[in-house]
Amino acid sequence: MSSTAVTGIGELVTCDGTGPERLGLRSNAALVIEDSVIVWIGSAADAPAADNRIDVGGRVIVPGFVDSHSHLIFAGDRATEFAARMTGQPYDGGGIGVTVAATRAATDAKLTGLLAARIRELRALGTTTIEIKSGYGLTVADELRSLQIASQFSPETTFLGAHVVPAEYVHDREGYVDLVTGAMLHAAAPYARWIDVFCEPHSAHAFDADEGRKVLTAGAAAGLGLRVHGNQLGLGPGVRLAVELGAASVDHCTYLDDADVDALAEAAEHTVATLLPGVDFCTRSPYPDAARLLAAGASIALATDCNPGTCYSSSMPWVISLAVRELGLTPAQALLAATVGSAKSLRRNDIGRLVLGNRADLTMLDAPSYLHLAYRPGVPIARTLDVGFTGQQANAQPSVLS
Ligand SMILES: [Zn+2]
Repeated sequence: MSSTAVTGIGELVTCDGTGPERLGLRSNAALVIEDSVIVWIGSAADAPAADNRIDVGGRVIVPGFVDSHSHLIFAGDRATEFAARMTGQPYDGGGIGVTVAATRAATDAKLTGLLAARIRELRALGTTTIEIKSGYGLTVADELRSLQIASQFSPETTFLGAHVVPAEYVHDREGYVDLVTGAMLHAAAPYARWIDVFCEPHSAHAFDADEGRKVLTAGAAAGLGLRVHGNQLGLGPGVRLAVELGAASVDHCTYLDDADVDALAEAAEHTVATLLPGVDFCTRSPYPDAARLLAAGASIALATDCNPGTCYSSSMPWVISLAVRELGLTPAQALLAATVGSAKSLRRNDIGRLVLGNRADLTMLDAPSYLHLAYRPGVPIARTLDVGFTGQQANAQPSVLS
């Protein structure tokens, strides 16, 4: 087994919970990695000998971003819908049907190629873990193949048969919920770690509290962890359903009443509120109040929700800058939410923090300080540092993500 030393780290942000703002900052640091695991952290002057060496030239190293919410496997394009929305058309979830039709029509090779290209894109932006949801197939066969393809790229796959009620079931919602909780779940479960539901009474296309409960309960019985899309379009039952059923994450949380905030604070050890400000930006919606959630004691995460309808961006640095500008987070709080917070929402301890024994998922910032993530919005200063091969830093191949 060969070892690699990463040296010349001007600022190492370990996110280990220590020191000012819990960032675990170190200057002039080095790391040693064996078999993709961190085996030594310390001052560069004390670094032990290693087989290979990567000098990052005084740049910043942060934990690779954990994007805990995406809909990356799809075909088709909805740019015209976006343009129409920017002229005033509201979003209600209906455009998902357009992507469903294009995804069903695509070959396996086409879907695999599109997903590989998107993985290359997000790796180049510093993301090292990506959760990928199905939900644009909505038949047993199409959900199954979406998850089979997604699971070749990431272990964090989510069955989202309950994304919308597909057109062929609009007059038989109960029949569709039966399918999702029956044959579709049975086919999907071997390729999924999680199950999710779009629980949103404000959209005729989505699922109400009773339907959401059925879907999540069936998923739990099949051995899947629970995630919920909730409280995106208005106040609703999503947050409290997620907390009640012990979901790992409830995502969006744009509209919260006092009882929702209290429930999230109470459940902070188990249920993370995942905020997706890129969606609020791209749909011209209000932003969630992240500072209120933190003050109450809730756990928060940040993710992109990268999808073709409401946020076609895979950029975690952009999400961090939005969270600082629009959600009331400090740059440190936003970085923690995009790393440790999102890792917690995936119930992962081996990622999100640069500590001994954790995965060496490293992201390099071409900057003197992590503050530049928020300070330089839209500038590509972050990229994944590939330490898996001798001295190479190439991001040319889409590697399997942690
Ligand atoms: Zn989503």
